[in-house]
Amino acid sequence: MKKSLLRFLSALTVCLLLIMPLPSLAGEAQEVTVVCSFYPVRIFAQNALKDVPGVRLETLAPAGTGCLHDFQLMTGDLKKLDGALCLILNGAGMEQSFLPLLTRERANLPLVDCSAGIPLMTEGGEDNPHIWLSPFLAAAMVRNLGDGLSKLLPEHRETILNNTEAYAASLEALGEEMRAALSSFEGKNIVTFHEAFPYFADAMGLNVLASVTVEPDETPSPRLIAETVSLIQKCGGCPLFSEPGVQLDALNTIARETGCPVYELDPITDGANDPDAYVQAMWKNLNTLITALSAQAER
Ligand SMILES: [Zn+2]
Repeated sequence: MKKSLLRFLSALTVCLLLIMPLPSLAGEAQEVTVVCSFYPVRIFAQNALKDVPGVRLETLAPAGTGCLHDFQLMTGDLKKLDGALCLILNGAGMEQSFLPLLTRERANLPLVDCSAGIPLMTEGGEDNPHIWLSPFLAAAMVRNLGDGLSKLLPEHRETILNNTEAYAASLEALGEEMRAALSSFEGKNIVTFHEAFPYFADAMGLNVLASVTVEPDETPSPRLIAETVSLIQKCGGCPLFSEPGVQLDALNTIARETGCPVYELDPITDGANDPDAYVQAMWKNLNTLITALSAQAER
């Protein structure tokens, strides 16, 4: 073989090596990060992204935050948004304590608002943001999420939309089953701590008579306790629902004075990052409601 031909062939080899991707990098798609504002939205996103490769999910609020009513962004939280594809929001005002700062600091970050188009209830002139606790509205949120995410990940559009439609339909079926299971308690009153459950009660055909307006980390005043006791007595011992992790002496006082046990409803703001977590928590809530409302009927 002539020397010039050899030189040509070796040069050609170098060129081919340069233009061909290395085997170790081939097929390794760039990973993107999708950030969710808090727990329930994350569970919805997990379902939306089933079988979608190359997407890492992050939750903005650290575990244990609960609702985001007073949540303030720390530098570490903002860092989670560096290079993120988008931030998925509950919307309806849930993120209002930090959204103005966030949109100032990360002006170009796309936002997916799960509450788009959902009619809101108001409490004292303010929108109540706890929409995810109605399985029917959760389905609408999931469809909004699918719509937003599929536009940002067009190569996975079909998978995402199939996932969100299937999950949304299963949430609607869950809502129907729960409502049917509670049909004999239609219109019954319940009292809750924290204004988390009006959408849930509405979906279940129940009525939140009152919310003892105390956030999980606050201590209710003696006057508020006395008012709650008299409210429960007046409504014939309608059940009072606290939340998991709330350890208030006030709850024992109320239970003692009314003779009605205090039950727990899960607002589904914390838990395992399991795609079935929302559905499982809802079944548990249903069992709690049936126990509490049956006990009231027997008193
Ligand atoms: Zn809340």
